[in-house]
Formats: sequence, structure tokens, C-alpha cells
Amino acid sequence: MLRKWLCQADVKITLEPVDPVLIKSGYATIDGADMVPVSTFKDGKRVYYFPGSSLKGALRGHLERIARTLHPGRVCVPYYDDKKRGSIPIPVPSEEHSYGCGYVASGNTTSSLYANSCAVCRMFGSLKFGGRFSIGDAYPSENPTLESRDGVGINRFTGGTVPGVLFDLQVLVGGKFEAELRLTNFELWQLAALNLLLMDMEDAIITIGSGRSRGLGRVRITVPSYMLTYVRAVHQLEGLHQLVTPEEQSAYQLHDWSPKNPINLPKPQGRGLRQQYDLSDDWSNQLQVLIPAFENFLACSNYAPRLPENLAEQEGAS
Ligand SMILES: [Zn+2]
Repeated sequence: MLRKWLCQADVKITLEPVDPVLIKSGYATIDGADMVPVSTFKDGKRVYYFPGSSLKGALRGHLERIARTLHPGRVCVPYYDDKKRGSIPIPVPSEEHSYGCGYVASGNTTSSLYANSCAVCRMFGSLKFGGRFSIGDAYPSENPTLESRDGVGINRFTGGTVPGVLFDLQVLVGGKFEAELRLTNFELWQLAALNLLLMDMEDAIITIGSGRSRGLGRVRITVPSYMLTYVRAVHQLEGLHQLVTPEEQSAYQLHDWSPKNPINLPKPQGRGLRQQYDLSDDWSNQLQVLIPAFENFLACSNYAPRLPENLAEQEGAS
């Protein structure tokens, strides 16, 4: 993407499970059947951790929900392939044409794929290109305890219990986990979206792993470190739109948005070519005025559900 490195946000989070958490390893292990948490070995000891891919999936799902709430139909249904129309059930009629950007985003260059993708794919990626957002595995700084829970088999037709069908599941309770999030070459609305996700995790609104309907999976985070890095010193907060050439703005269809009053940044720390700005103490207040950027992007974005008339229009335009 862009073949340049211009700006980046790096956020460290500490995750504390509020409820027991189960992220299934999906295969039988020495701990039992497949209802056990993921683990690895570190210094000869078994360590339970939350894989970055699971965390990323939970965050993506949450951002899709926020976007659909703000502007119905402005994000795609990522697994909905237009060629399999009819064979895949569509959650709601208004999303009948919200085919996944990974299947239908048009163009052969990263710039046109990016320009034609919905907000969530622009951030988290699709089958056609990697996103701007990444998150690593969350390893424990304080070990959780492993506990067993009983489950009762439910008959899917009657909703009653099935006699003799019991299963064990192993869950993680307590502990603290550390993870790092990164957003490279961010647009201002993407930084706003990142902050929305961080604030919802601070308030324990986002759940991870399996068994959410049985009260598993809520986590609460704190944000010990929030850094913005630019390749050149800037005095005020800038996003990709302010940092690239007019040709790049138009090729990538970058969103032209700035806050009414510029957001001043603290004095940077030089690190080679990079200039780092530490917003750890007060990022949520300092960047609060960015929040409307996300809704504004949804309202104006190039992505529109692939209704027959929009497709004709796009084809006519290109
Ligand atoms: Zn999409």
C-alpha cells in the first residue's frame, strides 16, 4: 500500500478478562477434547495466550456493527461472494447486494482496490489486499487460571436438553495479557475508528472467543502507551490525506477531512528519521474531536452496496 511509510499509530494494551474466556484451539490436546484454550510453550512452561487473529476478528466484527448502526449498508458482508448469490443466506434484506469487497472491489492496482473498498476492508483488509491495522498475540504478564465448566448438550430442534450428552469446556479465568496494535499510513477517520474500538474495550463492551451467549468472553483493557510517529516533524495532527501528493489523494480516494480546530501535538522525540509523539496520558480527550470523522467517511465513501444501478454507474465511470 502506497509504497511509502508516512505515519503510524502504535498502541500497547493490557487486557484483563472480566468473564472467563475461551478461545478454542480447535484440536484435541493433552488437556482434553477440542474445547480448550490456545496455548504454547515458553521457557519450557505452558502459556495460554489470545491469538492476534482472534482479537483482530473480534475488533473487525465490532467496527462492522458500529458502521452498520451509523449508516446501514455502508460496509460489506466480507464472506458474501456475488458468484454464489442465492446459495448463501443473507442476514437482512438491506444487505442483499453488500457483496464482500474481496470478491467485487474493482481494479488491478492497490490504489483502485483501496479506493473501491468499504471502510472496514480499508482498515482490516480483504481477500485482495492487507489492511492498515495489525494486532499481535496477547501473552500473559500475569498467568490466568484454567478452570472447567460443564456444558449440557442442547437439542437444536426442540431446544431441550439431550439426556446423556454432557461436555467439558476449559476456560481461562483472570490474568493479564499484553498486546500491541498498529495502524500504518492512517487516514484521520481510521484513527477515529481505532479510538472508538479502544474506548469500547476500555468499557468492556467487546467480547472475544466462544460462548458469548453463556456469559464468556468480556475483556477490559487499559492503554499504557499510545504513540504517533511521522516521518517528518508535524506541529498538528495530520493523516494520510495531508501527507501525500494530490495525485495520490485522488488515486486512493483519501478522505478529505480535518477537525475544525487543529489538534496540537506534544514535542516529538527524534528517533533517526522518525518523529515520535507520546499521547499516552490523554489520548482519548486530545483526540475526541476526531470521532465525527468516522461517520463522515461512511457518509461520503466511494463504497456503495453493489446495487445494479451503482454497478452500471461505476462501470460507466471507469
Ligand atoms: Zn468491505
